[in-house]
Amino acid sequence: MHATPPLRISGLTPLTTIDFPGRIAAVVWLRGCALRCVYCHNADLQNPSSTARDPSWESLVRFFERRRGFLDGVVFSGGEPLLQSALPDAVTALRDLGFETALHTAGPCPGRLIRILPHLDWVGFDVKAPFEEYESITQIPKSGENARESLVVLQRSDTPFEVRTTIDPNLMDMAMVMRMAAQLQKMGLSRWVLQEATGKRLPVGLEDRIAPLFDHLEIRKASEARPDTPPPRPESGRYPPRGARAA
Ligand code: SF4
Repeated sequence: MHATPPLRISGLTPLTTIDFPGRIAAVVWLRGCALRCVYCHNADLQNPSSTARDPSWESLVRFFERRRGFLDGVVFSGGEPLLQSALPDAVTALRDLGFETALHTAGPCPGRLIRILPHLDWVGFDVKAPFEEYESITQIPKSGENARESLVVLQRSDTPFEVRTTIDPNLMDMAMVMRMAAQLQKMGLSRWVLQEATGKRLPVGLEDRIAPLFDHLEIRKASEARPDTPPPRPESGRYPPRGARAA
């Protein structure tokens, strides 16, 4: 079984209960990212080129063959999984093995998202900032336009999804978060997840101001947050450490 051209895999989290709602899953971390978020803590993963230490697709398939009956699903995360043209084949291959499939994305490729959505059981969608202010976080001009289009694609699909935003008060003040909240509410979003950045607390009073705008507002502590990069790869040994979770 092959996904062609080969999927460029940075690592595997063999067991997680928090990255694919309601499922016991593994997370496959994929290489390459179109954004350069100022808070990204794994610049290594932004590099699309494989390294000699990266797991092969074949080893990944062997892992999942051994986990049939123990895992419900697989999460493709990154980096940005949608950048890899081998992703649809990989999703299909693991579905054929009996696994449900989920995607973590920041939505840089709306066309690719449209095509892969029918083959996904869930999407975790990261919104970085008010769409017209994306560059302040991602450092990529006009990156908000594709993200907005991808969110519309998700809203029009039948695939369940979650929209979440990591709030770093040093990068996003109360006014900026409120602009984002108003924008998402206007787009018809009823549920929003706010995640604390590592080592940071949400601005005092933010939750009370935002909660009335949504049917459901979830606050995730940094310890519970789903960052969109794995922990840095250790200098040596197995990656990730056995039992590590994708958070
Ligand atoms: S935080 Fe995620 S989306 Fe942003 S640059 Fe890093 S890998 Fe890319």
